[in-house]
Amino acid sequence: MIKILANDGISKKGINLLEEKGYYVSTNHIKQNELIENLNKEKYNVLLVRSATKVRKELIDACPELKVIGRGGVGMDNIDVDYALSKGINVINTPSASSNSVAELVFAHLFSMVRYLYDSNRKMPLTGDCEFKELKKNYSKGIELSGKTLGIIGFGRIGQEVAKKAIGLGMKVLAHDKFVKEAKIDINFFNGANVSFKINTKDIKSVLSNSDFITLHLPKLDEKAIIGAEEIGLMKTGAGIINTSRGGVIDETALMFSLDKNKLAYAGLDVFDNEPNPSIHICMHNAISLTPHIGAATLEAQERIGEELADQIIKYFN
Ligand code: NAD
Repeated sequence: MIKILANDGISKKGINLLEEKGYYVSTNHIKQNELIENLNKEKYNVLLVRSATKVRKELIDACPELKVIGRGGVGMDNIDVDYALSKGINVINTPSASSNSVAELVFAHLFSMVRYLYDSNRKMPLTGDCEFKELKKNYSKGIELSGKTLGIIGFGRIGQEVAKKAIGLGMKVLAHDKFVKEAKIDINFFNGANVSFKINTKDIKSVLSNSDFITLHLPKLDEKAIIGAEEIGLMKTGAGIINTSRGGVIDETALMFSLDKNKLAYAGLDVFDNEPNPSIHICMHNAISLTPHIGAATLEAQERIGEELADQIIKYFN
Protein backbone atom coordinates (compact mmCIF):
# COMPACT_ATOMS: atom_id res chain seq x y z
CA MET A 1 0.00 0.00 0.00
CA ILE A 2 1.18 3.55 -0.82
CA LYS A 3 1.67 5.48 2.42
CA ILE A 4 1.61 9.26 2.50
CA LEU A 5 2.58 11.59 5.34
CA ALA A 6 1.15 15.09 4.84
CA ASN A 7 3.24 16.60 7.61
CA ASP A 8 2.01 20.18 7.27
CA GLY A 9 -1.58 19.15 6.41
CA ILE A 10 -3.49 18.69 3.15
CA SER A 11 -7.06 19.61 2.11
CA LYS A 12 -9.96 17.20 2.64
CA LYS A 13 -10.43 17.01 -1.13
CA GLY A 14 -6.81 15.90 -1.56
CA ILE A 15 -7.19 13.24 1.15
CA ASN A 16 -10.41 11.95 -0.45
CA LEU A 17 -8.80 11.61 -3.90
CA LEU A 18 -5.86 9.67 -2.44
CA GLU A 19 -8.00 7.46 -0.20
CA GLU A 20 -10.29 6.63 -3.13
CA LYS A 21 -7.20 5.08 -4.75
CA GLY A 22 -6.65 2.97 -1.65
CA TYR A 23 -3.66 4.99 -0.42
CA TYR A 24 -3.09 5.59 3.30
CA VAL A 25 -2.83 9.28 4.27
CA SER A 26 -1.66 10.55 7.66
CA THR A 27 -1.94 14.23 8.59
CA ASN A 28 -0.36 13.77 12.02
CA HIS A 29 2.34 16.38 12.33
CA ILE A 30 5.69 14.80 13.24
CA LYS A 31 8.32 17.07 14.81
CA GLN A 32 11.32 17.76 12.58
CA ASN A 33 13.76 15.86 14.86
CA GLU A 34 11.53 12.75 14.91
CA LEU A 35 10.75 12.75 11.20
CA ILE A 36 13.44 10.37 9.91
CA GLU A 37 12.64 7.76 12.54
CA ASN A 38 8.90 8.01 11.90
CA LEU A 39 9.16 7.93 8.10
CA ASN A 40 11.23 4.73 8.32
CA LYS A 41 9.16 3.07 11.04
CA GLU A 42 5.89 3.62 9.15
CA LYS A 43 7.54 3.04 5.73
CA TYR A 44 6.09 6.20 4.15
CA ASN A 45 6.55 6.47 0.37
CA VAL A 46 5.44 10.08 0.06
CA LEU A 47 6.25 13.08 2.24
CA LEU A 48 4.11 16.17 1.68
CA VAL A 49 5.12 19.49 3.24
CA ARG A 50 4.29 23.19 3.04
CA SER A 51 6.95 25.59 4.24
CA ALA A 52 7.35 24.45 7.86
CA THR A 53 8.89 20.97 7.43
CA LYS A 54 12.46 20.85 6.08
CA VAL A 55 13.48 18.07 3.72
CA ARG A 56 17.26 18.13 3.70
CA LYS A 57 19.98 15.83 2.31
CA GLU A 58 20.30 14.04 5.65
CA LEU A 59 16.63 13.02 5.64
CA ILE A 60 16.73 12.02 1.97
CA ASP A 61 19.77 9.76 2.63
CA ALA A 62 18.20 8.22 5.71
CA CYS A 63 14.78 7.32 4.22
CA PRO A 64 15.15 4.77 1.39
CA GLU A 65 11.38 4.14 1.08
CA LEU A 66 10.73 7.73 0.05
CA LYS A 67 9.65 7.96 -3.62
CA VAL A 68 7.95 11.36 -3.76
CA ILE A 69 8.45 14.65 -1.93
CA GLY A 70 5.65 17.16 -2.47
CA ARG A 71 5.45 20.84 -1.60
CA GLY A 72 1.98 22.35 -1.29
CA GLY A 73 2.72 25.75 -2.77
CA VAL A 74 5.45 27.23 -4.94
CA GLY A 75 8.81 27.97 -3.27
CA MET A 76 10.94 24.91 -2.52
CA ASP A 77 13.58 26.58 -0.32
CA ASN A 78 12.80 24.03 2.43
CA ILE A 79 13.60 21.04 0.19
CA ASP A 80 17.00 19.96 -1.22
CA VAL A 81 15.39 19.51 -4.62
CA ASP A 82 18.47 18.79 -6.76
CA TYR A 83 19.78 16.27 -4.25
CA ALA A 84 16.42 14.48 -4.07
CA LEU A 85 16.22 14.33 -7.87
CA SER A 86 19.79 12.97 -8.05
CA LYS A 87 18.67 10.14 -5.74
CA GLY A 88 15.76 9.29 -8.05
CA ILE A 89 13.10 10.84 -5.83
CA ASN A 90 10.29 12.65 -7.61
CA VAL A 91 9.77 16.21 -6.35
CA ILE A 92 6.45 17.91 -7.03
CA ASN A 93 4.85 21.26 -6.19
CA THR A 94 1.70 23.19 -7.09
CA PRO A 95 2.79 26.36 -8.85
CA SER A 96 -0.59 27.50 -10.22
CA ALA A 97 -2.90 26.63 -7.33
CA SER A 98 -2.67 30.01 -5.63
CA SER A 99 -2.30 32.37 -8.61
CA ASN A 100 -5.91 33.53 -8.49
CA SER A 101 -5.75 34.10 -4.72
CA VAL A 102 -2.65 36.28 -5.03
CA ALA A 103 -4.18 38.18 -7.95
CA GLU A 104 -7.31 38.94 -5.91
CA LEU A 105 -5.18 40.20 -3.01
CA VAL A 106 -3.55 42.67 -5.41
CA PHE A 107 -6.98 44.18 -5.99
CA ALA A 108 -7.78 44.15 -2.28
CA HIS A 109 -4.71 46.37 -1.84
CA LEU A 110 -5.51 48.49 -4.91
CA PHE A 111 -9.05 49.24 -3.76
CA SER A 112 -7.78 49.83 -0.24
CA MET A 113 -5.24 52.32 -1.58
CA VAL A 114 -7.41 54.39 -3.88
CA ARG A 115 -10.17 54.87 -1.25
CA TYR A 116 -7.79 55.08 1.75
CA LEU A 117 -9.28 52.05 3.50
CA TYR A 118 -5.87 51.17 4.98
CA ASP A 119 -5.95 54.48 6.86
CA SER A 120 -9.67 54.86 7.59
CA ASN A 121 -9.70 51.36 9.11
CA ARG A 122 -6.99 52.55 11.50
CA LYS A 123 -8.58 55.94 12.33
CA MET A 124 -12.32 55.12 12.50
CA PRO A 125 -11.95 52.95 15.64
CA LEU A 126 -9.97 55.76 17.33
CA THR A 127 -11.89 58.93 16.40
CA GLY A 128 -14.76 57.89 14.12
CA ASP A 129 -17.38 58.71 16.76
CA CYS A 130 -16.19 62.28 17.38
CA GLU A 131 -14.24 63.36 14.27
CA PHE A 132 -16.48 61.87 11.62
CA LYS A 133 -16.59 65.02 9.46
CA GLU A 134 -12.82 65.51 9.51
CA LEU A 135 -12.25 61.88 8.56
CA LYS A 136 -14.83 62.15 5.82
CA LYS A 137 -12.96 65.16 4.42
CA ASN A 138 -9.60 63.32 4.64
CA TYR A 139 -10.85 60.41 2.58
CA SER A 140 -12.99 62.29 0.08
CA LYS A 141 -10.43 62.55 -2.71
CA GLY A 142 -10.32 58.90 -3.66
CA ILE A 143 -10.05 57.82 -7.28
CA GLU A 144 -11.48 55.00 -9.40
CA LEU A 145 -9.42 52.14 -10.80
CA SER A 146 -11.47 52.03 -13.97
CA GLY A 147 -9.69 53.82 -16.80
CA LYS A 148 -6.33 53.85 -15.00
CA THR A 149 -3.23 52.02 -16.19
CA LEU A 150 -1.86 49.05 -14.27
CA GLY A 151 1.77 48.15 -14.92
CA ILE A 152 2.51 44.50 -14.23
CA ILE A 153 6.17 43.61 -13.72
CA GLY A 154 6.71 39.85 -14.01
CA PHE A 155 4.16 38.48 -16.45
CA GLY A 156 4.01 34.81 -15.46
CA ARG A 157 1.17 32.90 -13.81
CA ILE A 158 0.14 35.51 -11.24
CA GLY A 159 0.91 38.54 -13.41
CA GLN A 160 -1.39 37.20 -16.12
CA GLU A 161 -4.19 36.49 -13.59
CA VAL A 162 -3.85 40.09 -12.42
CA ALA A 163 -4.19 41.27 -16.03
CA LYS A 164 -7.51 39.42 -16.39
CA LYS A 165 -8.99 41.14 -13.38
CA ALA A 166 -7.64 44.54 -14.38
CA ILE A 167 -9.20 44.21 -17.84
CA GLY A 168 -12.47 43.17 -16.20
CA LEU A 169 -12.42 46.40 -14.19
CA GLY A 170 -11.87 48.50 -17.30
CA MET A 171 -8.20 49.22 -16.60
CA LYS A 172 -5.49 49.51 -19.22
CA VAL A 173 -2.71 46.96 -18.81
CA LEU A 174 1.01 47.34 -19.47
CA ALA A 175 3.35 44.45 -18.73
CA HIS A 176 7.06 43.82 -18.50
CA ASP A 177 8.80 40.46 -18.26
CA LYS A 178 12.43 39.52 -18.77
CA PHE A 179 11.52 36.41 -20.74
CA VAL A 180 7.82 36.48 -21.73
CA LYS A 181 7.44 38.56 -24.88
CA GLU A 182 3.72 38.12 -25.41
CA ALA A 183 0.86 36.36 -23.67
CA LYS A 184 -2.69 35.43 -24.60
CA ILE A 185 -5.06 36.33 -21.80
CA ASP A 186 -8.30 34.32 -21.91
CA ILE A 187 -11.11 35.70 -19.79
CA ASN A 188 -14.05 33.37 -19.16
CA PHE A 189 -17.35 34.82 -17.99
CA PHE A 190 -20.13 33.32 -15.90
CA ASN A 191 -22.45 32.94 -18.90
CA GLY A 192 -19.98 30.93 -20.98
CA ALA A 193 -18.80 33.94 -22.99
CA ASN A 194 -15.06 34.42 -23.32
CA VAL A 195 -12.73 37.06 -24.63
CA SER A 196 -9.04 36.79 -25.51
CA PHE A 197 -6.49 39.58 -25.37
CA LYS A 198 -2.96 39.45 -26.71
CA ILE A 199 -0.58 41.46 -24.57
CA ASN A 200 2.94 42.26 -25.77
CA THR A 201 5.31 43.03 -22.95
CA LYS A 202 7.32 46.24 -22.96
CA ASP A 203 10.60 47.46 -21.53
CA ILE A 204 10.56 48.13 -17.80
CA LYS A 205 11.16 51.88 -18.14
CA SER A 206 8.09 52.50 -20.27
CA VAL A 207 5.93 50.36 -17.94
CA LEU A 208 7.19 52.25 -14.87
CA SER A 209 6.75 55.68 -16.40
CA ASN A 210 3.32 55.15 -18.00
CA SER A 211 1.44 53.35 -15.22
CA ASP A 212 -0.76 54.75 -12.46
CA PHE A 213 -0.08 51.63 -10.38
CA ILE A 214 2.70 49.07 -10.48
CA THR A 215 2.31 45.52 -9.23
CA LEU A 216 5.25 43.13 -8.84
CA HIS A 217 5.07 39.42 -9.71
CA LEU A 218 8.59 38.21 -10.18
CA PRO A 219 10.96 36.05 -8.16
CA LYS A 220 13.73 37.40 -5.96
CA LEU A 221 16.82 36.08 -7.68
CA ASP A 222 19.64 38.27 -6.44
CA GLU A 223 20.51 40.56 -3.57
CA LYS A 224 19.74 43.81 -5.35
CA ALA A 225 16.12 45.00 -5.29
CA ILE A 226 14.53 45.14 -8.74
CA ILE A 227 12.62 48.28 -7.74
CA GLY A 228 14.90 50.79 -6.04
CA ALA A 229 15.13 54.59 -5.88
CA GLU A 230 16.01 54.87 -9.57
CA GLU A 231 13.02 52.80 -10.72
CA ILE A 232 10.65 54.63 -8.35
CA GLY A 233 12.02 57.86 -9.80
CA LEU A 234 10.73 56.80 -13.21
CA MET A 235 7.19 56.31 -11.89
CA LYS A 236 4.44 58.93 -12.16
CA THR A 237 4.17 61.28 -9.19
CA GLY A 238 1.18 60.13 -7.11
CA ALA A 239 1.35 56.55 -8.37
CA GLY A 240 0.98 53.47 -6.16
CA ILE A 241 2.96 50.25 -5.96
CA ILE A 242 2.06 46.76 -4.73
CA ASN A 243 4.37 43.93 -3.82
CA THR A 244 2.88 40.48 -3.29
CA SER A 245 5.89 38.64 -4.74
CA ARG A 246 8.85 38.39 -2.35
CA GLY A 247 10.38 40.66 0.27
CA GLY A 248 13.42 42.42 -1.14
CA VAL A 249 12.07 42.77 -4.70
CA ILE A 250 11.40 46.37 -3.69
CA ASP A 251 13.86 48.44 -1.67
CA GLU A 252 11.85 49.27 1.47
CA THR A 253 13.96 52.27 2.42
CA ALA A 254 13.57 53.81 -1.03
CA LEU A 255 9.85 53.07 -0.87
CA MET A 256 9.35 54.82 2.48
CA PHE A 257 11.42 57.80 1.29
CA SER A 258 9.28 58.13 -1.84
CA LEU A 259 6.06 57.98 0.22
CA ASP A 260 7.35 60.55 2.71
CA LYS A 261 8.31 62.89 -0.14
CA ASN A 262 4.91 62.39 -1.84
CA LYS A 263 6.55 60.95 -4.94
CA LEU A 264 4.36 57.88 -4.52
CA ALA A 265 0.92 58.25 -2.96
CA TYR A 266 0.61 54.80 -1.42
CA ALA A 267 1.83 51.23 -1.42
CA GLY A 268 0.40 47.78 -0.70
CA LEU A 269 2.68 45.12 0.77
CA ASP A 270 2.06 41.44 1.47
CA VAL A 271 5.75 40.51 1.60
CA PHE A 272 8.60 42.08 3.52
CA ASP A 273 12.32 42.15 4.13
CA ASN A 274 13.25 40.15 7.17
CA GLU A 275 10.00 38.13 7.52
CA PRO A 276 8.67 37.19 10.04
CA ASN A 277 10.03 40.34 11.73
CA PRO A 278 9.38 43.12 9.24
CA SER A 279 10.49 46.67 9.89
CA ILE A 280 8.29 48.47 12.42
CA HIS A 281 8.68 51.63 10.29
CA ILE A 282 7.06 49.83 7.36
CA CYS A 283 4.31 48.37 9.59
CA MET A 284 3.49 51.78 11.08
CA HIS A 285 3.73 53.77 7.84
CA ASN A 286 0.49 55.64 7.28
CA ALA A 287 0.54 55.29 3.48
CA ILE A 288 0.97 51.52 3.28
CA SER A 289 -1.79 48.92 3.04
CA LEU A 290 -0.44 45.85 4.84
CA THR A 291 -1.07 42.10 4.94
CA PRO A 292 1.17 39.47 6.61
CA HIS A 293 2.12 37.30 3.58
CA ILE A 294 -1.36 35.88 3.00
CA GLY A 295 -1.38 36.05 -0.81
CA ALA A 296 -1.83 32.32 -1.27
CA ALA A 297 -3.78 31.75 1.93
CA THR A 298 -7.37 31.19 0.81
CA LEU A 299 -9.54 28.16 1.38
CA GLU A 300 -9.92 27.71 -2.38
CA ALA A 301 -6.16 27.72 -2.93
CA GLN A 302 -5.69 25.13 -0.15
CA GLU A 303 -8.33 22.94 -1.83
CA ARG A 304 -6.60 23.26 -5.20
CA ILE A 305 -3.17 22.56 -3.65
CA GLY A 306 -4.47 19.30 -2.14
CA GLU A 307 -6.14 18.34 -5.39
CA GLU A 308 -3.07 19.10 -7.52
CA LEU A 309 -0.76 17.15 -5.18
CA ALA A 310 -3.15 14.18 -5.15
CA ASP A 311 -3.42 14.17 -8.97
CA GLN A 312 0.36 14.19 -9.36
CA ILE A 313 0.88 11.42 -6.77
CA ILE A 314 -1.77 9.23 -8.40
CA LYS A 315 -0.23 9.80 -11.83
CA TYR A 316 3.22 8.89 -10.48
CA PHE A 317 2.17 5.58 -8.89
CA ASN A 318 -0.01 4.63 -11.87
P1 NAD B 1 6.05 32.73 -12.50
O1 NAD B 1 7.34 32.01 -12.54
O2 NAD B 1 4.87 32.12 -13.19
O3 NAD B 1 6.23 34.22 -13.06
C1 NAD B 1 7.32 35.03 -12.74
C2 NAD B 1 7.68 35.82 -13.98
O4 NAD B 1 8.71 36.73 -13.65
C3 NAD B 1 8.21 34.94 -15.13
O5 NAD B 1 7.43 35.12 -16.28
C4 NAD B 1 9.65 35.41 -15.31
O6 NAD B 1 10.05 35.39 -16.67
C5 NAD B 1 9.58 36.84 -14.78
N1 NAD B 1 10.86 37.37 -14.31
C6 NAD B 1 11.85 36.73 -13.63
N2 NAD B 1 12.84 37.60 -13.35
C7 NAD B 1 12.47 38.79 -13.87
C8 NAD B 1 13.08 40.08 -13.90
N3 NAD B 1 14.26 40.33 -13.32
N4 NAD B 1 12.42 41.08 -14.53
C9 NAD B 1 11.24 40.85 -15.11
N5 NAD B 1 10.61 39.67 -15.12
C10 NAD B 1 11.22 38.65 -14.50
O7 NAD B 1 5.73 32.96 -10.96
P2 NAD B 1 4.32 33.28 -10.29
O8 NAD B 1 3.65 32.02 -9.90
O9 NAD B 1 3.60 34.26 -11.14
O10 NAD B 1 4.81 33.99 -8.94
C11 NAD B 1 5.32 35.32 -8.95
C12 NAD B 1 5.87 35.70 -7.57
O11 NAD B 1 4.83 35.61 -6.59
C13 NAD B 1 6.99 34.80 -7.06
O12 NAD B 1 7.97 35.61 -6.45
C14 NAD B 1 6.33 33.98 -5.97
O13 NAD B 1 7.26 33.59 -4.99
C15 NAD B 1 5.33 34.97 -5.43
N6 NAD B 1 4.21 34.38 -4.69
C16 NAD B 1 3.76 35.03 -3.58
C17 NAD B 1 2.69 34.50 -2.85
C18 NAD B 1 2.19 35.22 -1.63
O14 NAD B 1 1.70 34.56 -0.71
N7 NAD B 1 2.25 36.53 -1.56
C19 NAD B 1 2.08 33.32 -3.26
C20 NAD B 1 2.52 32.70 -4.43
C21 NAD B 1 3.60 33.25 -5.14
